[in-house]
Amino acid sequence: MSITIKACPVCEGKAFKLKFICTDYSVSSEEFKIVSCETCGFVLTNPRPDPNNISRYYKSENYISHTNNKKGLFNFLYQTIRKYTIERKVQMIKKFDTKNLLDIGCGTGEFLNKAKTKGINVEGIEPSEKARKQCKQNYNLRINESADIEAYDDNKFDCITMWHVLEHMPELSRLIESMYSKTSRNAKIIIGVPNHNSWDAKYYKKHWAAWDVPVHFWHFTKQSIEKLFKNHGFVLLKTKPMIFDSFYVSILSEEYKNGKKNFVKGFLIGMISNLVGFFTKAGFSSTIYIFEKKHRF
Ligand SMILES: [Zn+2]
Repeated sequence: MSITIKACPVCEGKAFKLKFICTDYSVSSEEFKIVSCETCGFVLTNPRPDPNNISRYYKSENYISHTNNKKGLFNFLYQTIRKYTIERKVQMIKKFDTKNLLDIGCGTGEFLNKAKTKGINVEGIEPSEKARKQCKQNYNLRINESADIEAYDDNKFDCITMWHVLEHMPELSRLIESMYSKTSRNAKIIIGVPNHNSWDAKYYKKHWAAWDVPVHFWHFTKQSIEKLFKNHGFVLLKTKPMIFDSFYVSILSEEYKNGKKNFVKGFLIGMISNLVGFFTKAGFSSTIYIFEKKHRF
């Protein structure tokens, strides 16, 4: 069962053209089409599996964001860097004087727990039952199951975060509308997603690991995400690079492209991508976008 998106969620355009065909290297080896909107250029995986049937594409030992396994150097580095980046993320939301935080797609809860220790009231949403159990066991966090944020009170949150989550959400417009109603005046929405304008994406083309079909439904750039959120009453305040993602994605992409690991080359490509990100408008392999809620009337 698959679903075909008929209208572009950014501009409502109805015509798409094929960009390329990508393989799911991590789980199914199936092929999926990546298309772009002929009107605004927004890129999406289309068709994609029915959201009710997507879980089988996540059943991968390699999907390490939901585990805390420290086996192997790659995983060890991943976990060490994750600890550092969590610190940075919490510093970022503290800077905006966050009091009531919602993290959508909170995984095993490390970020939420760190925010809680800094005195922030935290709520989380996570579809994986295994990850929710770990939140409870490790940090005594009670996490909601449903991705539907309608159950929360209106105007409740002054900050909503989504770390590598928006690209997995089946429905964009309704979700962003909900984020508007569930947040207070001038609330911040902080979104980390891959950027297919980055140098590493252009270098690896269809082998770029952050296409991550079919679990990544949407593929953003600064232009497309800014327009999408503007449609729903949010303005882009600033962007921040996620400089470690370029290395992780490039090392994985090397493996997808050549069938074997090449840490040195992956590291090099990641480094070039970061330099290009700093000195040009291409942006970084993954970017954090900070939006502010504005009055719509
Ligand atoms: Zn469009």
